[in-house]
Amino acid sequence: MKIILENICKTFGSVKAVSNLNLEIDDGELISILGPSGCGKSTTLSLIAGLLKPDNGEIYFGDKKVTNIEPEYRGIGMVFQNYALYPHMSVLKNIMFPLKMKKIHKKEANKMAIQMAELTKIEDLLHRKPSELSGGQQQRVAIARALVKKPEILLLDEPLSNLDARLRIEMREEIRRIQQEINITTIFVTHDQEEAMSISDKILLMKDGLYQQYTTPREMYSNPSNKFVARFLGNPPINFIETEIMYNGEVVKLHNSRIILNLSRHLKGKGIKENQVTLGIRPEDFIITNKDEALFSVEVIGIQIMGKEIYIIANIDEGIKVTLVASWDFNIDVGDRLYLDAKNIHIFHRGDVC
Ligand code: ATP
Repeated sequence: MKIILENICKTFGSVKAVSNLNLEIDDGELISILGPSGCGKSTTLSLIAGLLKPDNGEIYFGDKKVTNIEPEYRGIGMVFQNYALYPHMSVLKNIMFPLKMKKIHKKEANKMAIQMAELTKIEDLLHRKPSELSGGQQQRVAIARALVKKPEILLLDEPLSNLDARLRIEMREEIRRIQQEINITTIFVTHDQEEAMSISDKILLMKDGLYQQYTTPREMYSNPSNKFVARFLGNPPINFIETEIMYNGEVVKLHNSRIILNLSRHLKGKGIKENQVTLGIRPEDFIITNKDEALFSVEVIGIQIMGKEIYIIANIDEGIKVTLVASWDFNIDVGDRLYLDAKNIHIFHRGDVC
């Protein structure tokens, strides 16, 4: 089922929770709504679910306008962070509950619930109570219950946040598998960039109720629309270097520093109109090279061993600090000097807030 949001606004008192949001989600896509706490993710999901009504704008499911339709008539399944299972009911009864509400015959309901238990791989747990299940198993029950009425849209609000790190990875892969198996349009709310990047067809990134960018994870990572987007994706985060472009873009002067770099090959074709720009370099985009080919000469001031890689913290000069990533076996010490080039340099407006 295709979903369209047209100019959606929602205000709570003086807080603009969602401002002028336009969004198109294709049939069968899984999209994530991503952003820091309070950016309007849950409000957007509640508006799509019909739990909240927008102050302005329209919502369409397929060709049908649903803006004023009550949640129970929208054909959606929802899963919340706390699972909201009924503690006194068995797993089977929990899954069958929405069908009971719809007055579907018990035999048919039983069959549909077992089908969903098979899809979510909990068919051996049907007679247990929620308290006898692990967090991941409870989450599977919540998904089975959300899907049993065969909705055309699945909405997931931070569904993995109560699980430990290892289980989160397992369950996000499971959500993607289930979603693809039944090809259901799915919206997944999370504040975890890695989670969003790993399972989504597209990501909507929000900040303070405002749309920042909506595109595929790869495109958002490689072509962020502003400094906030660039900084929100990636760990360790992108390095920002304040600069002043001189001599028609031939060279840049690093902010508050005497260093002047010839960046003409990196700036070519980027159509820069301002003088005051921020360079963005991802830690993995630095290339360790020799003095003659280097953009920067840096002094290593810190090393963090992360396992398969190391994070090197270095000073370009006069207090400009950058982080770069190298392989675990790269031989380096604090105090060493490195010569760096970059595979890719992003250019942002200095005025961008991040
Ligand atoms: P989190 O990740 O913390 O759940 P979120 O991105 O889902 O955050 P929302 O819950 O959508 O954010 O909230 C967006 C803004 O709207 C916040 O400033 C929040 O305080 C405010 N807000 C949300 N619901 C209400 C409400 N019912 N009454 C008043 N303000 C609200």
